[in-house]
Amino acid sequence: MAYQLPPLPYAKDALAPHISANTLDFHYGKHHNAYVTNLNNLLGDDSRSLEQVMKDTAKDASKAGVFNNAAQVWNHTFYWHSMKPNGGGAPAGAIADKIKSDFGSFDKFTEEFKAAGATQFGSGWAWLVLDGGKLKVTKTGNAGCPLTDGATPILTMDVWEHAYYLDYQNRRPDYIATFLEHLVNWDFANENLAKA
Ligand code: MN
Repeated sequence: MAYQLPPLPYAKDALAPHISANTLDFHYGKHHNAYVTNLNNLLGDDSRSLEQVMKDTAKDASKAGVFNNAAQVWNHTFYWHSMKPNGGGAPAGAIADKIKSDFGSFDKFTEEFKAAGATQFGSGWAWLVLDGGKLKVTKTGNAGCPLTDGATPILTMDVWEHAYYLDYQNRRPDYIATFLEHLVNWDFANENLAKA
């Protein structure tokens, strides 16, 4: 079974002006697609789920190429759903209550999430995860994914340069602020929390 590039959950221009169609042409159409192609080239015919491939290879240095491509396929799909047109702002529903109880306030969550994205040196990801029943902010380098450490991803933000360079150049903090103010998809966070 070949691994597939999942469809984007919105049109390529739907996140503009915050993330341009040009960025999504490259980021989804070239980068995400290349991870799928690389994974298929590395694995050939393989019936495992993407999650199983990630768990089977995460701790095995000799399988780093497979892990990196599998996790980048998974992380990007999760990232597209972590955003929506007219997203951003304060959450509602169960995720809002749990953020307040686990972080103290929404502002405190925002501060931690911004810091995680800004301080991830080089390429990587900032995450909101459920870990041991509590919401936490975490970050991973390169293709790292909290799934393989036993946590449940709730939201993610890509901080690889390819995620923002065409629109923000070197201004990663501006991209992070825009993600939180205009893009983050709290409906998706509520769905993930309900399933966890
Ligand atoms: Mn990316």
